[in-house]
Amino acid sequence: MYLSDFDLKQLESRNLAKLPVAEKNRLLEKMLGDLIEARERLAANSSTSSRPPSSDPPWSGPHGDAEAEETATQGAKAKEDEMPLAENGPSAPPDAPAMVACPDGKPPGVGPKKKPGRQPGAHGHSRMLTLPVTGTIPHAPTHCAVCDRALDGDAFKANTGLYVLELVAGDGPGLRALAVRHDKHLYGESTCACGHVTRTEPGRCPDEPMWKVGLSEWSLVGPFLTSFIVCLSLRMRLSRRNIQEFLQDWLGVYLSTSTINRCIHEAGRAVEPLEGQLVDEVRQASLAYADETSWKEWGKLLWLWVVSTATVSLYLIGYRSAELITNALGEDFAGWLMTDGYKVYRQFHKRLRCWAHLLRKAKGLRESLTGEARLFGEHSHALLTELMDAVYQAREGPPTSLAGRYRDRLEEFRLMCELHRDCRHEKTRALAREFLNDWEAVWIVLAHPYLPLTNNEAERALRHWVILRRITHGTRTEQGSRALALLISVIETCRKRKHLPWPYLAQVIAERRKGNPAPAMLAAT
Ligand SMILES: [Zn+2]
Repeated sequence: MYLSDFDLKQLESRNLAKLPVAEKNRLLEKMLGDLIEARERLAANSSTSSRPPSSDPPWSGPHGDAEAEETATQGAKAKEDEMPLAENGPSAPPDAPAMVACPDGKPPGVGPKKKPGRQPGAHGHSRMLTLPVTGTIPHAPTHCAVCDRALDGDAFKANTGLYVLELVAGDGPGLRALAVRHDKHLYGESTCACGHVTRTEPGRCPDEPMWKVGLSEWSLVGPFLTSFIVCLSLRMRLSRRNIQEFLQDWLGVYLSTSTINRCIHEAGRAVEPLEGQLVDEVRQASLAYADETSWKEWGKLLWLWVVSTATVSLYLIGYRSAELITNALGEDFAGWLMTDGYKVYRQFHKRLRCWAHLLRKAKGLRESLTGEARLFGEHSHALLTELMDAVYQAREGPPTSLAGRYRDRLEEFRLMCELHRDCRHEKTRALAREFLNDWEAVWIVLAHPYLPLTNNEAERALRHWVILRRITHGTRTEQGSRALALLISVIETCRKRKHLPWPYLAQVIAERRKGNPAPAMLAAT
């Protein structure tokens, strides 16, 4: 028989003292049983209970877990059944482990078990073109490179051909009437009357530090199709394999998953120069919301940060450090910054604290089994709710400050927090300290009631990507993380400014592939 919450609420220490020893022992035994079971339940995860793996916190590494063991056993069984395994190919010994060390030299077992992409010895997929060629596009030089005379198209001799799959949109709003083109692009040379030979070749962006993926017109996938793939991956949250299936089934386009992956990374590289523009605009904002959520990169724990303003959503993936947020906002960010209680934000002077977090914690304490915690929770909750209403009311009228009206009430509450600073109840102590640590940031909104009370804006900006993380288990490489953060910054910023991101992204890719600068982002409409 469990001790219910109702029972626990009545078990104050002074009542217990009155119990005879025998009864006390019986109660102790019962409580010990309860405690052990509660602990075990708390320690349960997907590998020790029937909970789904998605219920595990993202920072918990792979648990040499039941699922993995099961797969391994099945693999071994398959080997016995149908030796030799086709996947291992002729070069691999039949007992070669299915597991391969990951590319950056981390031991296997850290992160996913299998290296992504084609496994050693597996059959490769070369370009499987199923589409007929739609047209031929000659890229003849128009002018002589030396004397600048106009060149006759008839003098053009093609020497390089390049097949490009591209998506074209019909007329009308949105992306209606999508069709796939499969064009042969011809590059070559023309001889001028002056004798000089002028040559054309596909454009190419010079090497840029940090990027291993190329950025050039030497690509099977055109800019618009690349943009479409980014949409399927990031907005529609499809895996590389699902994108492959979708393109094949609906557009008759076959691309390998590694080509799809390359397209996403290339798009990320293409938009990198826009990040500076976004950072500049964020730094000039009068109000920004910041938040962070955990992110995994091949088993490594990182954080996905967002800084959101009226016109920009800037995302970054990196460590949970003060340096990262300072790099984004600059040393002397002069606007208001709405955040949660995380301490790296304390360096910013005009900081706002999210009341929704505090309210939730107060509400939690209100339902505590400890009397002292219940009282503190009740009091904090009532105060926050009352002040929240006062702020909403003040917004209706002319600009005003509520600071004077509530000075005494706050002073009283501050004493109460001081009293609970070292409370024995952990969560009460934590909330009291949270109020004290961020005292100014929490109540500053009373002096400026037009400022926001919650960080919902930033939390909303992260929600879609939290679901993406759950589906994909994060990114696999540094380049993948960088590409993701850059792309979602551009996509979300376009959305915020009421522009369709996809044609713009295609335009940026097209220009950058030629080695040109990225067209600037449009201002909000
Ligand atoms: Zn010439």
